[in-house]
Amino acid sequence: MPRDPWAEVLERIDDAAKLTGVDPDIHRLLRHPKRVLEVSVPVRMDDGRVEVFLGWRVHHDTTRGPAKGGIRFHPDVDANEVTALAANMTLKTAVADLPFGGAKGGVRCDPRQLSLHELERLTRRYAWEIMPLLGPDKDVPAPDVNTDGRVMAWLMDTISMAQGVDMPGAVTGKPLAIGGTRAHAGATSSGVVVCTRAAFAALDIPLVGSRAIIQGFGKVGGPLAFLLASAGMRVVAVSDVGGAVANAGGLDPFALSDHVDATGSVAGFAGGEAIDEADMWGLECELVVPAALADAITPEVAERLQTKLIVEAANGPTTTDADPVLERRSITVVPDILANGGGVTASYFEWAQSRQGYAWDEETVALRLRRRMEEAFTAVWAKSDALSVSLRRAAFGLAIERVAEAIAARGLFP
Ligand code: NAD
Repeated sequence: MPRDPWAEVLERIDDAAKLTGVDPDIHRLLRHPKRVLEVSVPVRMDDGRVEVFLGWRVHHDTTRGPAKGGIRFHPDVDANEVTALAANMTLKTAVADLPFGGAKGGVRCDPRQLSLHELERLTRRYAWEIMPLLGPDKDVPAPDVNTDGRVMAWLMDTISMAQGVDMPGAVTGKPLAIGGTRAHAGATSSGVVVCTRAAFAALDIPLVGSRAIIQGFGKVGGPLAFLLASAGMRVVAVSDVGGAVANAGGLDPFALSDHVDATGSVAGFAGGEAIDEADMWGLECELVVPAALADAITPEVAERLQTKLIVEAANGPTTTDADPVLERRSITVVPDILANGGGVTASYFEWAQSRQGYAWDEETVALRLRRRMEEAFTAVWAKSDALSVSLRRAAFGLAIERVAEAIAARGLFP
């Protein structure tokens, strides 16, 4: 049966509400997105014809602050998936204790089939269509799958032109030249490292000399390999869409990165041996970081893993039916809504700087990011201890409690 991302989020929300005894009225409220906007996005293609794309912007909850969440361009995007991702953002921003609600957006398109001009026209028209929802105090988009700083710059420019005022606080993940933040690029990976260090300390495993496996060598997995190696770990295997490589002595992340720049994949890297990704999962190690796709860790993979710890850099990398297997096998999982919160935390810093009109230096961003991630980890770990549940259930529980507290404090309008 195809997976239903919204049904999966509802399951997690129901579990968290039950676990923490949240007021049933508030629980019911969180089972519905606040608003779902579907738009058609007509675009004049380079050959003169008009193509009509479908787009969405969903606000799940905005009680704790303006809606926050990325925009993805992908052929498989639909309202159900965008709504699920928006709800996850409500919970992720609550775990990181940021003054934001949860949103997500998407346009069903294959950006690889679009020229640069078509992509720009699509972005600007989509921004125009969802404009009633946007603004620094209402909804602040960021990059997601297949969108980047350039797309955010077009969005910010379109909003600013339409409003007649410069609005750098309307989006995050912008280029530095127009008010982006320093240290945004590696923020997700840095947050993953903070969680990894904290989890190793809590589990009493020495970090230096320990072995790590990373799935994915992209914007998150690539910098992560450097950061883990510089923390003293051995990155013994890495996979990407093209294949997997392993080296029991540790892969050289600099050489691997050069190889990926030159060839587009980790496959064929001379500093390690080629292995099947399926075999990679069975390698003995202390840390596994899925940093590629959703649903990478299935029950079958969970049975094969020879690790003590999984830190989820990707969104939704573990299927719901793999969780019980990991629990039974005493493999600790630092869940995505905690582990990859470094990205949205850096986005919060960018939003704050844009609104202050004052750019922080790199050390300030890095220090504040580390502190925030450490605080989030400590809060989730304490909740997991107090309730004797997995870190995942604890993170959802903590998030829902924080959102419920805000809803109760504000009361129900009118
Ligand atoms: P990316 O596109 O830059 O990199 C994805 C990597 O995954 C690539 O190396 C790709 O080859 C690999 N991959 C794709 N299919 C694969 C397969 N079948 N097997 C093995 N590897 C495969 O993406 P990214 O920005 O690094 O994001 C990775 C994950 O982290 C996603 O789940 C994303 O939602 C999540 N995430 C990213 C950020 C961020 O700041 N970029 C923040 C939070 C969460």
